[in-house]
Amino acid sequence: MAHNKITLNNRVDMPAIGLGVFQTPPDATTAAVEEALDRGYRHIDTAAAYLNEREVGEGIRRSGVAREDVFIETKVWISDYGYGATLHAFDKSAGKLGVDQLDLLILHQPLPSRFDLTLDAYRALEQLLFDGRVRAIGVSNFMPEHIDRLLNETSVVPAVNQIELHPYFQQTAVQKVNAEHGILTQAWSPIGGITSYRDAERRTFDDPTLLEIASAHSKSAAQVMLRWHLQQGRSVIPKSTKPARIAENFDVFDFELTTEQLAVIDALDTGVRGGPEPDSITLEAYGREIPEA
Ligand code: NDP
Repeated sequence: MAHNKITLNNRVDMPAIGLGVFQTPPDATTAAVEEALDRGYRHIDTAAAYLNEREVGEGIRRSGVAREDVFIETKVWISDYGYGATLHAFDKSAGKLGVDQLDLLILHQPLPSRFDLTLDAYRALEQLLFDGRVRAIGVSNFMPEHIDRLLNETSVVPAVNQIELHPYFQQTAVQKVNAEHGILTQAWSPIGGITSYRDAERRTFDDPTLLEIASAHSKSAAQVMLRWHLQQGRSVIPKSTKPARIAENFDVFDFELTTEQLAVIDALDTGVRGGPEPDSITLEAYGREIPEA
């Protein structure tokens, strides 16, 4: 039975399920975080670029759960890449969150056209780790070639690579490279939220195969997808602002998918990415100023 604890490659423990807050409006973020912590979540995934770190910090403080019992993960946006800029990005995020130390700080995207800046940003994360300002460091949306290059030119193996991963887009090649290096794969859009943002026709939530498995366990499609990740050793960060769904997405520790059911879900992969191609991310197209704390 999968449980809510994953040990990262530097021996730091991380709750496997975190609450995601991408597209959660700032004025709904504090309540969502409080609700999640009340329901038993102990991990929140935010990002400088989501512009709601301040409200995440407020939700944690209001919840009454001790700071050391909550795992806070955030991301440096590409506009803050570079050694000095990324050290300062830590100050901005920690300041908004109202904490001295972050549990996990990751690079939000590779910048393939400016990989020099990406490497300098990662070297700043290494320094923050060395100085005890962060407990673990990692990356997001890194493809195998980005990981290879990072590993060749820096010292600390990332603890996490957070990538788009749901039944319709499984990135098995990236998962394999992550596993070879001891990098934990963390699934963003773990229940396929991104499949419903643009194409309402192909929502994971309505998938007949997932619904059939769900019905066999008296669970929802979302719960089946989360279980599929957990049983395959991945971390998940489902997002919701709705109390009932926040609770539902955490209520996944009382059933187990069979090996056959896991394989049936593996077979749903379409190979079609929902998010942007990592190689299309440039400062010109995606740069935006991240406000000071
Ligand atoms: P998710 O797979 O978490 O799906 C979220 C969507 O599904 C929302 O529209 C939500 O709506 C809805 N939903 C949530 N729970 C349920 C449920 N039980 N049943 C039916 N619908 C449900 O997608 P996200 O794209 O939000 O990804 C999750 C997190 O991953 C983000 O919040 C963010 O933290 C991270 N992320 C990281 C990225 C990166 O580049 N590193 C990119 C994208 C996301 P509602 O809120 O109304 O309930």
